[in-house]
Amino acid sequence: MKIKCWGARGSIAVSGKEFLKYGGDTTCIEINSKSGDNVIIDAGTGIRGLGDFLMLKGKVSSNILFTHWHWDHVLGFPFYKPLYHPDAQVSVFAPSFEGRSVKELIAGLFSSPYFPMAFENIEAELTFHTLNTEPFWIGSLYITPIALSHPNGGVGYKFTEQGRSFVFLTDNELTFKHPGGLNFQEYVAFCDKVDLLLHDGEYSKEDYQKVKGWGHSTYFDALNLALRSEVKKLGIVHHNQGRSDDELDEILDDCKNTVAKQNSALDIYMMSKGMVLTMDEGGITLDAPCSGIEKESNEIRALRQSKKALEKTLQRFGVEKSHEIQKVLAQSGQELAQLKSTITVLREELEKMETKKIRSVQEIKSSYNSEISQLKETIEVQREKMTENMISYKEKLQINRQNMFSEITQLKETISVIRKKIEQTDGK
Ligand SMILES: [Zn+2]
Repeated sequence: MKIKCWGARGSIAVSGKEFLKYGGDTTCIEINSKSGDNVIIDAGTGIRGLGDFLMLKGKVSSNILFTHWHWDHVLGFPFYKPLYHPDAQVSVFAPSFEGRSVKELIAGLFSSPYFPMAFENIEAELTFHTLNTEPFWIGSLYITPIALSHPNGGVGYKFTEQGRSFVFLTDNELTFKHPGGLNFQEYVAFCDKVDLLLHDGEYSKEDYQKVKGWGHSTYFDALNLALRSEVKKLGIVHHNQGRSDDELDEILDDCKNTVAKQNSALDIYMMSKGMVLTMDEGGITLDAPCSGIEKESNEIRALRQSKKALEKTLQRFGVEKSHEIQKVLAQSGQELAQLKSTITVLREELEKMETKKIRSVQEIKSSYNSEISQLKETIEVQREKMTENMISYKEKLQINRQNMFSEITQLKETISVIRKKIEQTDGK
């Protein structure tokens, strides 16, 4: 048989970047048998995509096995496209509830005012089968139902085909017996040495303290069941609505560590939308562990793991080296103190030098000043001399002028004498 997960989320569908790896659609598992029969467990929101896929494949005959009637397991049913195809056949297998038949319960999903389309509008050929714990066959699959320990009851299933077996138990509280449910030991017996067990692991131990009696198990209890039943592979389903991809990765790590400590060969999967497992004579193979986006998430996860390992190594390294580091630190402290005292000495010397420098500058300044005043004095003396010279020169000039004037006057007189003599001569 080939098992494909179309939805592994519990309680309510979710979407967002924190849910890309494991998906947000609620419970829906598809089984394709050797005989070619198509069996679907639960019609959570995941069945919408499966219905579209079956229509594309032209596969119009399917068998839907319901575990119980809570919203997250039935909400996708009215959106299952083959229901509106006249050539399709849909066989519904489910437990009845408080005297209401399977057909009534299915019709209720289409009742006004909760859904616009009437149950009568379904075009596919519908057949209804009420389940108890009697085993039955669908093609090559031998199917054994078992009561769930859950509020409002429910059934789980064991599928056997050619010596391989697969148990699906969701919404099953392993450590709390609800009316009609079984005890832990009875579930251990039911799962004894099966090849694959998919079980509800919605809660952590811490969560469970607040939600005991709500009808779900801790992943630790699911793991315990798998170990006690000696199953070969365990897939955890019904992921809590708020559990991010990272948190589910951490849960998976936690489970793997627990298994390693117990020296068990149990393989564990955190079921994700798109995961495909094939069970045949050769055993179980994981055909499609994840989609493209999920591959990316895995790479991120691998990086995160190597970062964690590095941090651990660094931590260990830190512990080993701390004494050495402290020694180095102490040495550095001493060196630092020495350096500080050297700096103080240097600073003092510098201050002294500065004082000296200032003094010498002042000396130079005063010597300059005296030189300047001497120069000034010299200039003054020279100026005085020059003034004196100027005065004497002026006086000389004055004297020369007077001399010239007297010479000119004498010359004028001589000329007039000569002129008179000439006139006298001319008159004769
Ligand atoms: Zn549920």
